[in-house]
Amino acid sequence: MPVTSAVSAARTILTRLHDVMASRSHAQAKLNTVVEVIGEGLDSEVCSIYLLREGMLELFATKGLAQEAVHVTRMGVGEGLVGTIAENIETLNLAEATAHPDFSYRPETGEEKYHSFAGVPIVRRERAVGVLCVQHAESRRYEEVEIEALQTVAMVLSELISNAGLVDDEQTALGPQQTGPVRLPGLTLVKGLAMGTAVYHQPRITIEHVMAEDRDAELQRVYLAFDKMREQIDRMASQAEFGVGGEHEEVLQTYKMFAYDEGWSRRIIEAIDSGLTAEAAIERVQQRTRMRMRQIDDPLLADRMHDLEDLSNRLLRIVSGQMGTAASQGLRGDTILIARNLGPAELLEYDKRRLKGVILEEGSLTAHVVIVARAMGIPVLGRVRSLRGVVRDGDLLLLDADKGEATVRPIDAMIEAFDARFVKSKERAAAYAALRDVEPFTRDGTRITVMMNAGLRDDMPNLALAGADGVGLFRTEFQFLVSATLPARERQTRLYRDVLEAAGDKPVVFRTVDIGGDKVLPYLRHNDGEHEENPAMGWRALRVALEREGLLKVQARSLLEAAAGRTLNVMFPMVSEPWEFDAAREVFENQRKYLKAQKKLLPEAVRYGAMLEVPALAEQLDVLAPRLSFLSIGTNDLTQFLFAADRANPKLAERYDWLSPSIMRFLKRVQLSLAGHPIDITVCGEMGGRRLEALALLGIGIRRLSITPAGVGPIKELVRKVDLPEITEAMNQWLSHPPASLRDALAQWAAEREIEAD
Ligand code: PEP
Ligand code: MG
Repeated sequence: MPVTSAVSAARTILTRLHDVMASRSHAQAKLNTVVEVIGEGLDSEVCSIYLLREGMLELFATKGLAQEAVHVTRMGVGEGLVGTIAENIETLNLAEATAHPDFSYRPETGEEKYHSFAGVPIVRRERAVGVLCVQHAESRRYEEVEIEALQTVAMVLSELISNAGLVDDEQTALGPQQTGPVRLPGLTLVKGLAMGTAVYHQPRITIEHVMAEDRDAELQRVYLAFDKMREQIDRMASQAEFGVGGEHEEVLQTYKMFAYDEGWSRRIIEAIDSGLTAEAAIERVQQRTRMRMRQIDDPLLADRMHDLEDLSNRLLRIVSGQMGTAASQGLRGDTILIARNLGPAELLEYDKRRLKGVILEEGSLTAHVVIVARAMGIPVLGRVRSLRGVVRDGDLLLLDADKGEATVRPIDAMIEAFDARFVKSKERAAAYAALRDVEPFTRDGTRITVMMNAGLRDDMPNLALAGADGVGLFRTEFQFLVSATLPARERQTRLYRDVLEAAGDKPVVFRTVDIGGDKVLPYLRHNDGEHEENPAMGWRALRVALEREGLLKVQARSLLEAAAGRTLNVMFPMVSEPWEFDAAREVFENQRKYLKAQKKLLPEAVRYGAMLEVPALAEQLDVLAPRLSFLSIGTNDLTQFLFAADRANPKLAERYDWLSPSIMRFLKRVQLSLAGHPIDITVCGEMGGRRLEALALLGIGIRRLSITPAGVGPIKELVRKVDLPEITEAMNQWLSHPPASLRDALAQWAAEREIEAD
């Protein structure tokens, strides 16, 4: 098929379709002409249209297949290639159709002589109402330009068949059938509880016309819309309510970059050139982006794509005059916002006093919007499937992001149970808040240090709110993760300085970047482009930093400058052998010398620490100890390596318990090997923030914890109930003669002393 460009092929077809649509002929006659026009335009031997009728995909018109098959050949949704396309709303491009596992042979069509097959869904209101396909005798894969032309034509067909009443709009009308309660499991993105009313972020935008009458007028409309959208984004960036310098600023900068992206506007203009209206062109480009997004495995890159989709919706609303998202309409005071996904700027448009929670069909922990929501203090549940199919605008919702679920249209008993949880969680929060200024001494009078983990500027107010003793782990890579490009030295220095200032007299331990593993930076060419089978054990953390020395140098300089006149606590992640620690320390020391020669103000002291996350280091701690000021045990990684169990694999999460004698014995040995060295030992993994685990750690001699801010109150409360000699003796006994379940033994021990397990 000599198609030189999708634009010209689509334009030719669209011009001819325009005449067909304007003609007064009967709908079936129009469709018959349509397949001829498309077949000719794409130079294909077969062109067929299947439409959804009474739940089946029926062959409505064909050029090339046997005419006797029209209105006879019918496929269920999900059946055969056509059914698969409709079910998954996806494009198929096959050199050999019969080789596809879903191929289903229909003898009445006479299609056996055609080898290659390409089909695209005809979509209306986000559902497939039909399928458009082409076939060739020759075995070949269709080129991308051909597929794009087909997709553009399918958009136009969607309008044609709807205007002609060929598909029943009732069939495609969306709206949940259920009326009873439904539990919606999801992924906790920001913890919290909320009860409220479902409000869809985006009232559905209906595209009235797909084919343009006047190309220049459409171009004008889209140019104006772009100007308006960019204006809105600029205004939002300058008004972001979290002040200057927050992560939001970085997030909005990335967002702004997309708004001005030339490639995006060019693709929309091309689509208008092919004959589409401005609305249809934006939608067309958005569809293509969505399709690409589905193929992207990298969550960070996918998040950036969501930003683009957010902007695309904004543009569509401007150009179609269907302006408002729910944010611009009088918002209820108990709104639980529902969206497929949200951009950070979109969330910032809501009045946070009225917003009680957010539920997303997509979303991930590293998404920009989650960072913003955390700063706004709004619970977020993500990865909830088929929301549109289950939840209606105005439905009552119970959002339990602590448990990772929501319930729509709850019955009274569910509301009562939720209310009780709500009240309890508020009471608990109040009780913990009351401990804010209370120092955590055990019953026998030992002071336990309870610090918090942080990674963003916005986490810092939690230090005072939770009453933590300092920041025991500042994950510096978070700044790298929310940036579109490698953060420049000035920006790093500014962040570290702000963090130290926010901490006041309390210490902050900065961990140098721990990138790699699951924290991939799209802008840092990873592992020389090599795919890693096992990234958690791969080119990450200090291994990256030592190889890309420039990275560590810049960070060292930023930290040293930011901590001028104070004590700088710095630690290195994933140290596996003592020489790695020495090499990293040397990078810092060289920078210190350089700054000294420049007569710059230096930190009063620099304390160097290592993270114990790789079991091998435990065997050489005695060698490293004389050079260490402190050791921080990262149990998240350490336990995944001890058990050879991927920490991100949900299937394994239940299998190995932090309260295993293997882990506890290991940690105890580590401590014993450091006895006699004046080294602070802290546990900074997630386990320290859980009450039974913290109890066990106290029992083996751990006196310093660094945990998630929400855990500080509960752990302080626990500490005050513990008698150390008593738990130490119990742990000693359990570790020499392990019970069937250390967890059960600890839970019972706690219950007997009226210590709550969680
Ligand atoms: C750990 O591994 O326990 C740790 C604290 O580091 P991170 O969770 O950032 O890998
Ligand atoms: Mg780690």
